[in-house]
Amino acid sequence: MNPQKITMGQDGQLQVPDYPVIPFIEGDGIGPDVWSASKMVLDAAVAEAYGGKRKIEWKEILAGEKAFNQTGEWLPAETLNMAREYLVSIKGPLTTPVGGGIRSLNVAMRQELDLYVCLRPVKWYTGVPSPVVHPENVNMTIFRENTEDIYAGIEFAAGSDEAKKLYKFLNEELGGAKKVRFPETSAYGIKPVSKEGSERLVRAAIKYALEQNKPSVTIVHKGNIMKYTEGGFKQWGYEVAEREFGDKVYTWGQWDKAKKTEGEDAANAKLKKAEAEGKLIINDVIADNFLQQLLLAPQDYSVVATLNLNGDYISDAAAAAVGGIGIAPGANINYLTGHAVFEATHGTAPKFANTNTMNPSSLLLSGVMMLEYMGWHEAAARIEASLAATILSKRVTVDFYNLMTGATLLKTNEFAEELIKNLK
Ligand code: NAD
Repeated sequence: MNPQKITMGQDGQLQVPDYPVIPFIEGDGIGPDVWSASKMVLDAAVAEAYGGKRKIEWKEILAGEKAFNQTGEWLPAETLNMAREYLVSIKGPLTTPVGGGIRSLNVAMRQELDLYVCLRPVKWYTGVPSPVVHPENVNMTIFRENTEDIYAGIEFAAGSDEAKKLYKFLNEELGGAKKVRFPETSAYGIKPVSKEGSERLVRAAIKYALEQNKPSVTIVHKGNIMKYTEGGFKQWGYEVAEREFGDKVYTWGQWDKAKKTEGEDAANAKLKKAEAEGKLIINDVIADNFLQQLLLAPQDYSVVATLNLNGDYISDAAAAAVGGIGIAPGANINYLTGHAVFEATHGTAPKFANTNTMNPSSLLLSGVMMLEYMGWHEAAARIEASLAATILSKRVTVDFYNLMTGATLLKTNEFAEELIKNLK
C-alpha cells in the first residue's frame, strides 16, 4: 500500500484512501505525552477494526514552541501548506506566544484555512465525576461559528491613535458617540456578523442534524440586545433553514407566522404534527436563558448553532456539566473545502509537561471525531466503547482518580495500554 492524500471529490464528498497521510502537531507542554498515548490507541483501533486493510501514515508538522525552537517561527508557512494540502490534520495543545505578531496559533490556523465551524460534541460517559445530578441528560453537539463576531480580532487599545480615530468617526459620521461613556479611556472591539457567515454555520448544523437523525437545531443568540448582529444571525439562520431544507424542517419562524394568521392553537397543532412526522425542529433561545437551560433542562437540546463568543462560553459550560472539561474533544472544519483540524480543547498544562500523568482523552476523542469525519466509523466506535469500559472500571489518570472512590491510578501511557486492551 502506498500512502495517499485525502482529497475533496467533485461531488463535495471527502475521498479517503485506505492508507491516508495525516499530518499531526504533537503540541507543547503535555502535548507529547497525550499525543503519543492517543496515537497508540488510534493505530490499534484502526488495525483492530480493519485487520490491516486500513492504516494511517502520520506525518509530523511543526507549530508552537517546538517549531519556534527548530525554525525560529511559531507557525511556519510549511505547516499551513501541509495542513492545506492534506486536508485533515490533528493537533495537541499549543503555547500561546506572549507578545509578538501572532495572538493565538489556533486562531491563526482557523483564519488561514477558513475553518468556519468549531464543532464540540458534549456527552457523558458513565462513571465520569460530574457536578450535576443528571449528567446523562446532556447529549449535545455544538456548532460554534469560528471566523466572525467580536473574536475577529479587530480591537483597539484605550488611548491608541486608532481608538481616537474610531471615536472621531463615530462622533462625526455615525452619531453613536454619545453612547460611549468614557471616550478618553475606552478600548474598542468590532463585531462583524455576516449573512454568508451565519448561513454557512447554520446550514452545517442542519445538515449534521438531518444526517444523524437529531430532533432539533437550536439557534442561540443575544438578538434581543444586539439586534443586527446576533438578531441577524437568528434571522438568517431561520431563512436558510426554510429556503434550503423545505419540508425536512419546521421552524419556530413558521410557528410564529401560523400563530399570527391562524391563532396559537392552530400553530401548536402544526408544530406537534411536524414533530410527529419526524421533521427537524429549528428553534431559538436567548444565550443567557440557554445557559440556565443547560443546567435545568439539557434533555431539551440536541444540536446547537451559535455565534463565536456565545459558543466559547457554552462549550465550556456544557463540557463542565458532563465532567468533561479535561476530556472534551473539538474540531475546526470547513465543510466546503474539506479542511479540518481536530484538536485537544485543553491547554498545554506546562506544570505537568513530561510527567506522563495527564489524561489523553481530549486528544484521543478528537481523533475519534476525525475517524468519523473520514467515514471510519467502526474504528471510532471501538475507541468510544473502550473508553466507556475503561472509565467504568475506574482505572484512570489522576484527574479522574482524584474525584472517584476506589479508583486505580494510571500513568498516561498505562491508560492508553488499558484502552487498547479494552478495544477487543
Ligand atoms: P490548561 O488547560 O493548560 O491547564 C489548566 C489545568 O487543567 C491544568 O493545570 C491541569 O490541572 C488541567 N488539565 C489540562 N489538561 C489536562 C489533561 N489532559 N488531563 C488532566 N488535567 C488537565 O490551561 P492554562 O494553564 O490556562 O493554559 C496553559 C497554556 O496553554 C497557555 O499558553 C494557553 O495559552 C495554552 N492554551 C492552549 C490551548 C490550545 O492549544 N487549544 C487551549 C487553552 C490554553
